[in-house]
Amino acid sequence: MPQSGPYKLNLFLIGVLGVALCWWIYHFTDWFEAFANLLALGGIFSWLAFVAKVLPDERLKEMQAWVDSSVLTRPKLWLAVLIVGAVLFVGALCVGTIEVQALRAGGPVRIHKATAAAAERDEPCWELLSANGHARFVIWSPLWKRTEILVKVSGLPDRTETAPGFTRVEMQLPDSFRRPVLMLRPTAALTQQLEGQPKVLVARYRGDRREVRDYHGQSLWINCDTDVDTPPETIAGWRGKKFSTNGDFGGFVLGTKAPVYSSRGPINTCHVRAKLDGLHVTVEDCAIPAMFAAITSTALEVLNNFAQREAFRAKMVFSWSFKAMPDLRDFFPHPPDTYDPTSYETEAEMVSNIFFFNAMGQDDASGEFSLPFDRLDLDWANPIANRPVFAKIETLLKTLAEEMRSPEGRYMAFPLWDGFANRKLIVVHPLGGCPIGATNADGAVDEFGRVYDGGKPAGSKDVLPHLHIVDASVIPGALAVNPTLTISAQALRTIGAALP
Ligand SMILES: Cc1cc2nc3c(=O)[nH]c(=O)nc-3n(C[C@H](O)[C@H](O)[C@H](O)COP(=O)(O)OP(=O)(O)OC[C@H]3O[C@@H](n4cnc5c(N)ncnc54)[C@H](O)[C@@H]3O)c2cc1C
Repeated sequence: MPQSGPYKLNLFLIGVLGVALCWWIYHFTDWFEAFANLLALGGIFSWLAFVAKVLPDERLKEMQAWVDSSVLTRPKLWLAVLIVGAVLFVGALCVGTIEVQALRAGGPVRIHKATAAAAERDEPCWELLSANGHARFVIWSPLWKRTEILVKVSGLPDRTETAPGFTRVEMQLPDSFRRPVLMLRPTAALTQQLEGQPKVLVARYRGDRREVRDYHGQSLWINCDTDVDTPPETIAGWRGKKFSTNGDFGGFVLGTKAPVYSSRGPINTCHVRAKLDGLHVTVEDCAIPAMFAAITSTALEVLNNFAQREAFRAKMVFSWSFKAMPDLRDFFPHPPDTYDPTSYETEAEMVSNIFFFNAMGQDDASGEFSLPFDRLDLDWANPIANRPVFAKIETLLKTLAEEMRSPEGRYMAFPLWDGFANRKLIVVHPLGGCPIGATNADGAVDEFGRVYDGGKPAGSKDVLPHLHIVDASVIPGALAVNPTLTISAQALRTIGAALP
């Protein structure tokens, strides 16, 4: 006759132990699915059932009685279950979990977890985390010495976390990995003061402490993964060379023979490409947003009229000389004049016969930046407006305008080029300044945007660690087309090479 007391207690404790184990696996790990699949493996139970069928009834009963008496009703089994449970519980207190969740839609990301020591040994342990998925890392973190974990998501700053036992630390992508970075930029006066008399600088920012013993007034980044101070000789070596205007140029046809409705988008609908004496040129149409229709048509009208243009110029010169805001009310549209039908024009009508050329070409990328007294200055050895490409573009625009204009219409250059303040360029596609070059003598960065070490002899290909330039300033010359795709392609190339 089975002893019912120990039997019930043993069954109860075995049940509790199993449930607790299942809950721990479910809550702290990614293994529950595999564990549940194992439990559900019909094959194991079918095999047991098959073997049991082979046994005669008496044998089966004998075996059941043996399991019952030697296991389930064994007086001390409850003690063994409690000991196993206690050991597992202490073990669970020494094991923590880091969970990284990808909350937003997006491609898969890679996760690198490592203790600081393992990170130094560069032990890669990457997992693929799909959008909206999560990954859990079970970490041995004993009660007496909690383990610090370095969590690295590709493309985001590292984050160090302690994984306390019996805890699931949750991190969301990308918010949990963002952190503010501060750039400390001294004034020109401080830099001059420290020249030849370096001091000790201590900067504290959100737990990050930086001490620079020999501080001579350079800019500092605080809270970055790695210090990326740029040596002064590197900065001196760049001298912001090879700035290009991308040959940007603009002009108008005032009075087209057919209406062009320039206030309608999109901004560019067509283009013409030409090669003029070996120089590439692109000419696009450019829409005029409705909000600028009134000011554009008025400004062009003013500049088209000699008397008004001179009055306008005088007002602007006066305002410039006396640092006063110009009063331009006379030139801008007034309340409707009931005798003048043009007073009632809609914005679309105001620019319906004005065509705006947006042109790009090849200049010689000879602009140079300098930092006199810590202020950025851009200059050319010879005036940039004298480059042949602008004259060639203008000839092309005049030829196109001749075909497009009505008998009263005419070509008009951009107001700052011709008409109001002569031969000034508006550059909307600035390129270069930190150009790509084959060595440190030819450029500021290599083809992957890595900054050359200016301290090395001219012609060296050595680069500074962890310092990349990722924008239009690396493009080493005019593109003669809209540059965004090229800038983006180069940025992707740099990021691809910079990330592990
Ligand atoms: C009116 C206009 C129309 C254009 N149209 C076209 C077009 O149709 N097609 C085309 O291909 N290109 C066009 N361009 C050019 C294109 O926008 C630029 O070539 C391109 O955006 C340059 O990319 P970038 O990454 O070098 O710089 P940007 O796109 O200018 O990015 C620089 C970023 O740095 C930030 N920043 C600046 N200083 C700091 C600081 N101290 N700290 C932190 N952040 C800072 C800025 O806020 C900005 O977000 C146009 C430009 C203009 C002005």
